[in-house]
Amino acid sequence: MPESEDMADTGGTDTRRRALIRAGLSAVGTGILAPWHGAFGQGTADADDRVEFRRVVAANRILANEGVVDAFGHVSVRDPRDRERYVMSFARSPALVEFDDLMVFEQDGTPLDARGRRPYGERMIHGAIYEARADVNAVIHHHAYAVIPFSVTATPLVPLTHTAAVIGGHIPVWDIAKRFGDTDTLVRSMDIGRDLAAALADNTCVLMRGHGAVVVGASIKEAVLSAIYLEVNARIQLQTLGLSDTPVTLSDGEIALARETQFSPLGMDRAWEYYCRRAGVDPQ
Ligand code: MN
Repeated sequence: MPESEDMADTGGTDTRRRALIRAGLSAVGTGILAPWHGAFGQGTADADDRVEFRRVVAANRILANEGVVDAFGHVSVRDPRDRERYVMSFARSPALVEFDDLMVFEQDGTPLDARGRRPYGERMIHGAIYEARADVNAVIHHHAYAVIPFSVTATPLVPLTHTAAVIGGHIPVWDIAKRFGDTDTLVRSMDIGRDLAAALADNTCVLMRGHGAVVVGASIKEAVLSAIYLEVNARIQLQTLGLSDTPVTLSDGEIALARETQFSPLGMDRAWEYYCRRAGVDPQ
């Protein structure tokens, strides 16, 4: 049965999404438990590297389970074996990503081990940010619906609650048309990727006008937490703006302190275990 028919027959997209994720779990479980056989990349990966790559798979499952990504969106990690390379899945929906789907890319987006697999069309987002930001080791791109209103209006997305302080106090909006005119809005070249990376600057998140967002982190865990709370905060802010045009926002000092708490083991370990378990992934 074609997937579209299958989808149409099933009531409740949320239930359907979770069922899809569970169905894929036996596969991801196999990938996680299988001995490392060097299926991707040049050179070997030690135990720490393998954990990092498993977290890429976990991040895909988590972001799908939390409704941050849908059919589209992707996650990468800087390759700990070579900082000018990164690792991400081939062009597959995040809920379905398995360990053996991971591929290694040069910073310019050239795949090292394609083996016939089609890379994400917007992988240049990742390479351009790794090139510009030595402090960034994980990048997430998504189209979360709740952030879109803030990408097409003058209303800035700002952290309104302490758990969302991880998104940072300033979230710029990047408009591809300013430099590149009419496009399909996709980041298809390093030239476009570098323009986006410049707009991100030193921030954690950047919104893409009429498209989505990019979230970065020093680790996969940090990037995942920030991506989840960017979406949560966008929903809270949309609700808040129905009550008041001038809500009380977190101060810069509160943002810095709450962000530190969230990224400390007190917040991070608890959150990572929770989101992994919810997505049916073993926390690592
Ligand atoms: Mn996109």
